[in-house]
Amino acid sequence: MRRPRPARTPLTLAGMTIDAVFFDVGEVLVDETREYGTWADWLGIPRHTFSAVFGAIVAQGQDYRETFQVFQPGFDLATERKRRAEVGQPESFGEIDLYPDVRPCLGELRAQGLTVGVAGNQTARAEDILRELELPIDVLGTSDSWDAEKPSTAFFERLIVEAGVPAERILYVGDRLDNDIRPAAELGISTAVVRRGPWGHILREATAQRVLDADVEQWCLFQLDGLADLPSLVRRHNLQTG
Ligand SMILES: [Mg+2]
Repeated sequence: MRRPRPARTPLTLAGMTIDAVFFDVGEVLVDETREYGTWADWLGIPRHTFSAVFGAIVAQGQDYRETFQVFQPGFDLATERKRRAEVGQPESFGEIDLYPDVRPCLGELRAQGLTVGVAGNQTARAEDILRELELPIDVLGTSDSWDAEKPSTAFFERLIVEAGVPAERILYVGDRLDNDIRPAAELGISTAVVRRGPWGHILREATAQRVLDADVEQWCLFQLDGLADLPSLVRRHNLQTG
């Protein structure tokens, strides 16, 4: 869905200290390779084919859920999630699917005295899994439990309330310029993009410009290839601004 270009570029207030860091889930914390692989299996489609079509859908600026429609017109994700659970093949992820830089990053940010949160478009079931992983975080929120989905304003307004600090003192870390960075930045939240996963690699430069009609990547305080460097970048930023 294309949204109108904001009246002004929501440039990050570079002079503000970061007090809270919130993370998206898919492809920021969780490598979704296994998750989408099992969806390809469920559809009876070779995994390579499913992934390639998924990427083409993303490059066209369409909702990734259109991928399912290509292979099975009329596919209903909520119904199929239920069916998978019923036959003992529920959509799932676990410790093994976490990117290896996740736990050290969360732990180091917390050791800096920052509020650390996880907030993404996820099901109630995924929220249970995230809770069981016992990540070193202070806040856990999902679209299901907040009853608000990215990229809606309501989702990020709730995130600001949960963080308990002004928007510009929050850093939201996401892999999607369309769903994460733009809506967060438009509310004045500072942002960091992680270039991993399908969106992180595809929605860049000319493709991002065509799909988003704005140079959203330039709005980010940090542009990252992973999470390993984030704690030191935040520490340096806070030393310079504090
Ligand atoms: Mg994501």
